Amino acid sequence: MFSYRHAYHAGNHADVLKHTALIAIIQYMIQKEVGISVVDTHAGAGIYRLDSDAAELSKEADEGLRLLLKNAGEKKVELGELLGEYVQELERFNPSGALKVYPGSPMIAQDYLRRHDKLKIFELHPTDSRVLEKHVEQLRAGRQINCYKEDGFEGLKKLLPPPTRRGLVLIDPSYEMKSDYARVVNCIQDSLRRFVTGTYMVWYPVIARPEAHDLPKRLRALAQEVHKPWLHTTLRVKSGQMGSQLGVLGTNKGPKRPGLSASGLFIINPPHTLEPQLKGCLPQMVELMGQDALAGFTLEASK
Ligand code: SAM
Repeated sequence: MFSYRHAYHAGNHADVLKHTALIAIIQYMIQKEVGISVVDTHAGAGIYRLDSDAAELSKEADEGLRLLLKNAGEKKVELGELLGEYVQELERFNPSGALKVYPGSPMIAQDYLRRHDKLKIFELHPTDSRVLEKHVEQLRAGRQINCYKEDGFEGLKKLLPPPTRRGLVLIDPSYEMKSDYARVVNCIQDSLRRFVTGTYMVWYPVIARPEAHDLPKRLRALAQEVHKPWLHTTLRVKSGQMGSQLGVLGTNKGPKRPGLSASGLFIINPPHTLEPQLKGCLPQMVELMGQDALAGFTLEASK
């Protein structure tokens, strides 16, 4: 426990997929005047330096965001609307023009929220929770944000349903422990009982372990049980490294391990606009971050 640090992974292809979808969902939800609550059950440290020792060691951003930007420039690819918005958001965090920092999910979410929206974020890691709190303090957002150094799966229970009955829950565990897969399923089941109309976005690594393989199936069954729409997407940038969880969850210990090659998002109650938006940007993600012939995406949604 606690060997996972998102600093090693910030800006990788999985972040590109997850944060692009996050922006799309929040942008849709804030079109209505009524306030929303965003809950991030596994928030990370909030902001990551891309020139830190961790980032330099893993070089995961080189196979994610940096590769996307490099190829877009070299191939003179005009980014579609959603991917373009994601890149502009990163530029807002890097006003000097050089790509120095990568904003994590709580910072991206907060940047889109209006004054009357709420952000509730959980982080358990002793160091990352302190760093997160500091970043949150600097936002001077007052009571808009609540930071909890608690277990996000458990803490979520007290926040559902949100007062306005409009909310997004991002569940983005490190899957450092195998039990995280079952906890995600139990958490979604419990959350749907409390707040069936909420939007839930679960990230997971596409790796060759039965729990990861079964997770989207189990989430789909839960959505179907309560007759709610769902969307499932995966992005693969390269072949290989299917067998080992260690390759996915590179830590600060040991030699550099090959990075994750694919990841997925399962979303319950997605905005109806999300599927066409992802259809528009997934091919570009593959074109710009794909490394070999196995690069590709899947996208399926309830009818
Ligand atoms: N959501 C972040 C983003 O997109 O920028 C990345 C989060 S990272 C994948 C997962 C984080 O969850 C890690 O920082 C880890 O310390 C934290 N964590 C692990 N177990 C947790 C738990 N039970 N409750 C809250 N945080 C947890």
